Amino acid sequence: MSEAKLDLLSLTEEELKDWMKESGQQSFRGTQIFEWVQKGNKNIEEMSNLSKDLREFLMKNGKVTDLTIDKTQHSKLDETVKFLFQLEDQHKIESVLMKYKHGYTLCISTQAGCAMGCGFCASTKGGLQRNLTAGEIIDQVHQVQRVKGVRISNVVLMGIGEPLDNFQEVKKFLWNIHNPKGLNISNRNLTLSTCGLVPEIYQLKELNLPINLAISLHAPDDTLRQQIMPIARKYSIEELLKACRDYIKKTNRRITFEYALVKDFNDQREHAKKLAKILKGMLCHVNIIPVNPIDQGNFEKPFDKTVQAFEAVLKENRIPVTVRRELGQDIDAACGQLRNRN
Ligand code: SAH
Repeated sequence: MSEAKLDLLSLTEEELKDWMKESGQQSFRGTQIFEWVQKGNKNIEEMSNLSKDLREFLMKNGKVTDLTIDKTQHSKLDETVKFLFQLEDQHKIESVLMKYKHGYTLCISTQAGCAMGCGFCASTKGGLQRNLTAGEIIDQVHQVQRVKGVRISNVVLMGIGEPLDNFQEVKKFLWNIHNPKGLNISNRNLTLSTCGLVPEIYQLKELNLPINLAISLHAPDDTLRQQIMPIARKYSIEELLKACRDYIKKTNRRITFEYALVKDFNDQREHAKKLAKILKGMLCHVNIIPVNPIDQGNFEKPFDKTVQAFEAVLKENRIPVTVRRELGQDIDAACGQLRNRN
């Protein structure tokens, strides 16, 4: 019955304006609808500046994505909260709310499942179920703001899924969340993390959005990277870094390289030296993440002193580096631990 209905929350302001024009309305009606849905309103009947006829038209032909919160888990170690959402077709996704000094950050999912197959990541173990729509991506922010009564200032696309493997919907999401008539979140407070889909990095560059780009590198050479990341067999580190340099040149934004440090795999001084060498001269920053163990793999966290030694080598080579503080470990909310618990 509802398959033909347009999801108003998945459309951009331009698309809504065009749709209104095609439907014999004035195009500014599209902007009004955009404002309602992007501010989190789900009920078409409450859109009081639209005529009754138009509201009826919208109810007949449109819908507003409204995710169901299935479960909420609160960390006992910090203030992290993990949300399990159910989609209309019963798939599940997760988001993680983190409190920092500067405000609230929400880590959101862009796909149900993931096709990338990285060995150390729980999100990909069941494969990809489907892409999320732009509405399902942004609604994670709306729902969390509503139930927690907070304003989210930063959003990171580091939950379940590979954002650049769902480029079209992620692109609309980025436009919509940044639109001053919607949530109005600054591009600088948005971070997209990718395992390194090279052609899509070039496409993202063309959008010329000053968002933060994070690249999951995790190894300083192809041989090592290929052992844990299937995508490394498709694109070499050289190709990936070329795309990154191009991205920096166009956007003038510093790129973050994420490096999950795995005991006795990629955590030696030689690895750090190699990493420093390939990143030399780049406007970048390395974020070390001592790997979070998952059920389906035997990846171990290195000892603290190994982490410090790795960090020290990068510093000696003047590569800006930080070690990520993991939040929500007791509720499996840390990097790589999110998954579909269907
Ligand atoms: N698909 C995107 C975004 C999701 S993952 C990407 O690959 O970047 C967010 C970050 O967590 C990535 O850097 C990912 O490699 C890292 N990660 C995944 N599993 C992890 C684990 N078990 N321990 C630490 N970091 C992990």
